Amino acid sequence: MSEGNAEQMLATATARADELAAPGLSPRPGRKVAVLSCMDTRIDLFAMLGIDRGDAHIIRNAGGLATDDAIRSLSVSQRLLGTTEVVVVMHEGCGLMGASEDDYTRALAADGARPSWRLGAFEDVVSALRDSLARLRAAPELPHRDAIRGFVFDPESGRLREPARS
Ligand SMILES: [Zn+2]
Repeated sequence: MSEGNAEQMLATATARADELAAPGLSPRPGRKVAVLSCMDTRIDLFAMLGIDRGDAHIIRNAGGLATDDAIRSLSVSQRLLGTTEVVVVMHEGCGLMGASEDDYTRALAADGARPSWRLGAFEDVVSALRDSLARLRAAPELPHRDAIRGFVFDPESGRLREPARS
């Protein structure tokens, strides 16, 4: 019963207003860090990284890729809201792994969609992570690029690792 989610979510939030309120909490991340992560449902960034509300910007998209819009958000995070570090979280078993860029583009075109973005399919999570890190480290939109790290999470084991830094 998917259509019931919005109603249920609104009711939940309404009932929890007291605990959701953050009076006086600054919109500037307390730990001066932004996290770019895949949107995968198995990734609980707060528990994984030991962060609380108010600590970090969380930017999520399919793959956790350094897309134009991810860079836009990271740029706002650094230039307007004071963060100086970036942590990228990708993961094993990603839905983009092994997907077909061409098939996806064809399916979009069949529906009349010719977006400026690409799916971002990849075969190897570590090389996809390296590509994203390289893009961020070369992005002049970000004034702080000396503390950008990337991790790979394995939802099966719960382990988070940092591939050899290149
Ligand atoms: Zn994913």
